[in-house]
Amino acid sequence: MSPAPDTVPALTLPGDVRIPQLGFGVYQVEPEQTVEAVTAALEVGYRHVDTAQMYENEAEVGEAVEAFGRSQVFVTSKLNNGLHRPDDARRAFDETLRKLRTDTVDLFLVHWPLPTLYDGDYVSTWRTLGEFLADGRARTIGVSNFQVAHLERLAAETDVVPAVNQIEVHPYFVNDEVRAYGAAHGIVTEAWSPIAQGKVLDDPVIVDIAEAVGRTPAQTVLRWHVQRGDIVFPKSSRRERMEENFALFDFELDESAMAALTALDRGERTGPNPDDFNYIPS
Ligand code: NAD
Repeated sequence: MSPAPDTVPALTLPGDVRIPQLGFGVYQVEPEQTVEAVTAALEVGYRHVDTAQMYENEAEVGEAVEAFGRSQVFVTSKLNNGLHRPDDARRAFDETLRKLRTDTVDLFLVHWPLPTLYDGDYVSTWRTLGEFLADGRARTIGVSNFQVAHLERLAAETDVVPAVNQIEVHPYFVNDEVRAYGAAHGIVTEAWSPIAQGKVLDDPVIVDIAEAVGRTPAQTVLRWHVQRGDIVFPKSSRRERMEENFALFDFELDESAMAALTALDRGERTGPNPDDFNYIPS
């Protein structure tokens, strides 16, 4: 038996939009496996799915979510890197809604700031997402992989504060400077690659804490994120791992365990540095 979906706490975003603190990520889930994976995750109890135009599985997410019941699921997508110019972003957003089979996406993000492309102009891109918020087709909007300098520029040049910043966070890369900026400015942190794609799970400190609380290393690390107040959406195509990653709300880590996990920080990213990332999918 899986825990009930209502065991997952929700956080409140601007506009009183409630977002489940635990979701299901579909990065690197092949399109042909996505309907099955998302359906399994919804059956397990997940009510929040994180996709992106870049993942090329929005249509399959849309199919699974529609079959389950669109109104029951919080759905996020993200603008692709090659589509930052306002007209491209508008067309791409229309396409996202069509593929997700919905009139309204719950959260739409600028996937990467790409400060070395588009003459460094991620501000116009952000303003374009503001149109989708204003016309109601995005319930909330946010950014992803924005560094403090990028967030400061949005604050200086626009009126809309991102609801979230989705950034790499795990025990080997705690990313506390960007998280602290978010906390001080009303921007919720979403932690991507929360278990560093599995790389932190055999760390002896994590294994010891997991044994002490009688949980798995993945549950221990995901619980650390939840207690730090971040949103997480671990990815797995295997149902037993979806169940494992969902069972986070019936135990707690004490202060010393929390501190020991945070102290594992090595400033070690698993993904690219947003300051120079310039990948455009072909
Ligand atoms: P993750 O940290 O969630 O790790 C996923 C991998 O860990 C899986 O492929 C699986 O092999 C393994 N795993 C999962 N559960 C496990 C368990 N219980 N025990 C052992 N191994 C387990 O990494 P991720 O998929 O990169 O990140 C999660 C989500 O974050 C993505 O699916 C995506 O939605 C989002 N994301 C966003 C960005 C961005 O730029 N905004 C970048 C990367 C990921």
